[in-house]
Amino acid sequence: MGNSVEKMVVSVSIDTECDHDPRWIRSDPLAFESILDGLPNRLQPAFEAVGAIPTYLLTVEVLEDPDCVKALNALQGSFEYGTHLHAAFIEPEKKFHNYAGVDSPDFQCAYEADIEFQKLENLSNLFKEALGYPPTSFRAGRYGASANSVNSLQRLGYKVDTSVTPHMKWQEPNAQVDFRKAPEQPYFPSLDTLSRPQSYTSGRILEVPVTVKPRLFRDPRWFRPWFASVEQMKDIVRYQLKKHSSQQVLSINMMFHSMEVIEKASPYPQTKDEAERFIDDMQAALQWCADEGAEFVGLSDLYSHFAPNNES
Ligand SMILES: [Zn+2]
Repeated sequence: MGNSVEKMVVSVSIDTECDHDPRWIRSDPLAFESILDGLPNRLQPAFEAVGAIPTYLLTVEVLEDPDCVKALNALQGSFEYGTHLHAAFIEPEKKFHNYAGVDSPDFQCAYEADIEFQKLENLSNLFKEALGYPPTSFRAGRYGASANSVNSLQRLGYKVDTSVTPHMKWQEPNAQVDFRKAPEQPYFPSLDTLSRPQSYTSGRILEVPVTVKPRLFRDPRWFRPWFASVEQMKDIVRYQLKKHSSQQVLSINMMFHSMEVIEKASPYPQTKDEAERFIDDMQAALQWCADEGAEFVGLSDLYSHFAPNNES
């Protein structure tokens, strides 16, 4: 490993949603193959085989569906559940009551702070009702989070947010978020700017950025199956190890969506072979991390690795 890096911790954060179509529109009629088949039969066994601990970030429609809730409660193995918000799908100011065939362009940070807080509170309550305990990890839909978002999450008892994609900015009709200057490694975000770190204060939420590697004149490359080959994913880890060699603990955070392992349920794999290749590549990259000595962690476990004095 790098000079001072004593430990590499690897998390896998997965936006876990209803099936979509190849245009990234929600399925019509609404289907949940990625939860009912993807989690128990494709993803979790693949993670168990390499010792990885995925964090499934659950959306409103998944937590509202009785069959999904049953499947989530029945899932066996090592994993974490957290939440993922598409803000148009929950009160207050809920825009859609039938989610089939709709797109969700809203950034949650474009809502008034107290409306956004209530949406996050309602999502967290939905999670608690479905699973029996409060959530502690989160990612915003379309990465549309701001300082208000994470301040609200902290008030609601969350420990980790993973909405930040360093080197990138996202534009929607009603808002933009700019993470181009955000740190690449976990940090405690300032109270007024999500992409700016501040020194630790007791109970401050930890931001765990998605792992990407910047490229000159081109979009950054994600540590993400389908978006990068196995060799490219290894290269991204090597880049992080070199760039942050003065850190004791290095975080690598893979992201993707549950729907990506079901053919035709996202813009990515369209055939069974492609969906299998997605899983094979994911496993190969994670196995390589394990061979390099990585420790696999759920998102919330990262808190104790980065808070001073191992406060958790
Ligand atoms: Zn999403």
